[in-house]
Parts: sequence; C-alpha cells; structure tokens
Amino acid sequence: MAEVLYVVGHKNPDTDSVCSAIAFAYLWNEWRKSGVLAKMKMPDLEAKPVVQGEPNAETKFVLEKFGFPIPEKMTDGAGKKVALVDHSDVTQTIDNYSQAEIVAVVDHHKIGDVTTPNPICFVNFPVGCSATVIKYLYDTTGVAIPKEIAGLMLSAILSDTVIFKSATTTPMDKEAGEALAKIAGIEDITKFGIEVKSKLSDISGMAVRDIIMRDYKDYNMSGKKVGAGQIEVIDLSLIEPRKEEIYQELVKMKQEGGYHSIVFMLTDIMKEGTELLVVTDEPAIIEKAFGKKLEGKSIWLDGVMSRKKQVIPPLEKAFAGQ
Ligand code: MN
Ligand code: MN
Repeated sequence: MAEVLYVVGHKNPDTDSVCSAIAFAYLWNEWRKSGVLAKMKMPDLEAKPVVQGEPNAETKFVLEKFGFPIPEKMTDGAGKKVALVDHSDVTQTIDNYSQAEIVAVVDHHKIGDVTTPNPICFVNFPVGCSATVIKYLYDTTGVAIPKEIAGLMLSAILSDTVIFKSATTTPMDKEAGEALAKIAGIEDITKFGIEVKSKLSDISGMAVRDIIMRDYKDYNMSGKKVGAGQIEVIDLSLIEPRKEEIYQELVKMKQEGGYHSIVFMLTDIMKEGTELLVVTDEPAIIEKAFGKKLEGKSIWLDGVMSRKKQVIPPLEKAFAGQ
C-alpha cells in the first residue's frame, strides 16, 4: 500500500476547492499508473481528496449531481503529505502546515506564503479557476477526463467565473468550460450555470453572521484593518428583506473587530453589478476608491463582480493615498 497524498482546498471551501481536489487526486493517481510521477521523480503516493470544512449548498448540489460523496474532513496536516489546490496562503491552509510535507500546489491566485524545503510540483496560472489549470494538466499529460469529473470541473469554472461573467474570466476558462461541458453531456452551459449559482442565492433560512462569513476575508491596507465579504445572487431582490439586518451586523463586526472599514458586496449575477454596503471611519477613502459618492449605506458599482480584481485593488490604492 502506497502512502496517502491528501489533496485539499482552502478553509471555508467553495466549489472550486472541493471539485479541484477531487479532479487533481484522480489525475495524480493516473499519473502514478502511467509513469508520469516516476518520470518527474515525484513521490509515489496514492492521492485522496479531502476538505477542511463542510461544503456549501452549491458544492453539495454539484457533488450529488455527478455522483460523488462529500470528501472526508481533514484539518490537521501534522505528519501528512499534502497537495494544495486553489490556495497557497498559510492562513487558508491546513492547521500545523509546517509539520506537513507539501508535495504539490495547483492554483490560480497570487502566490501565497507557503514554503517548502525542496522543489515540488507547483502550477499556477492567472486564470479564473483552479479547474482550468487542472484541465490543462490532464490535456498536456494525455489523461482522459471521466464524464463525472468533467461535470465537477465545469461546475467549478462556472462557480468561480460567475458563468464566465466575472472579470477574472479568461478565454482559457471559456475554452476549458466548453470542452468539459461536451464531455459531461451538458448542452446548455448558461442554464446549468444559473442552476449551480442559484443554490447559494437562497439566504432566507440563514443566520445573518453566516451570510456574511460565507465568503469573507480580512486585509491589511496601509496599516488599516479592512474586511471584505461578498454574496452573489441571481437577483438582488432575494437579499432585499435581509439588507438592513446585514448592515447592522457589519456595524457590530466593525466595532468588535477593530476595523477601519468593512465593505460587503451584494452582487447581482444577472444584472452584472454590485451594491457595495459600506461601514467605515472615513467614507472619503471608499468614495475615492470607486469614484462615486455613498448613497446612504451603499454604492452601486455597475459591472463590478470580482472582489479580487475590482474591489480590493482600488481600495488598496485609495488606502495607500494614491
Ligand atoms: Mn476558492
Ligand atoms: Mn478558485
């Protein structure tokens, strides 16, 4: 029996983190059988996908649709061999990561702060989704993608790129998505994308703090603590009844957490824009970042769907006084 390689996505897993872990684990095991691992002197390990936390409703829908069980939970890396997908930041990775051996990283973000003492398999493209990178790895190493895995990978791409509408989308994501849809037997990609994305749109039964924390990150901007969260829905009217409650919770979080500012993106997938809820010590900085005045508690940002590409960079600039 070969030793296990645990393939894991980031904390607070999203569809890409879970589906890419499954897709990369399968690919690794194919590499093992066909001698690719040996050719690259990569360790002879049996890959197994795991998750760091409970998958969300969207991911559960996708797993069920393509017939996969929820991967086992694994949060402690001590003494384990691990491959990271969809992240390379210490804050997002497994606990005790320094006592784990990182064997591979496959990602599409900025390079994080995970380090290794030895050379490893490290693949990162500036595309819209980890699954797009993994599709490239299947293709270049001549591994056929099984129908069900293609379904998972397509779902990850549609989720991360917001059905190819997000500013993070590249032509490579579209090409990969179209090829995967053919393999998976999905005829109408947009219709399927809306079905996937709508699974997280129903927030009626959720606690307000859970709505905010589902996709929330802290940043240090020129010495100021800034929080930025996002919720993407098919139609903003779905959030309207909870908006005031969300705003009041952000006010509370700002006080409790010692934030300078918290922004929360209410993103309308079909209208392709974001209502940005703002709680801040200095409205002028936020207004400068987006070149628009606050209207009450928020700013409407037409065409803005990506936190990473369209919200964080202008904020960082404005905080740096540029
Ligand atoms: Mn992710
Ligand atoms: Mn991703």
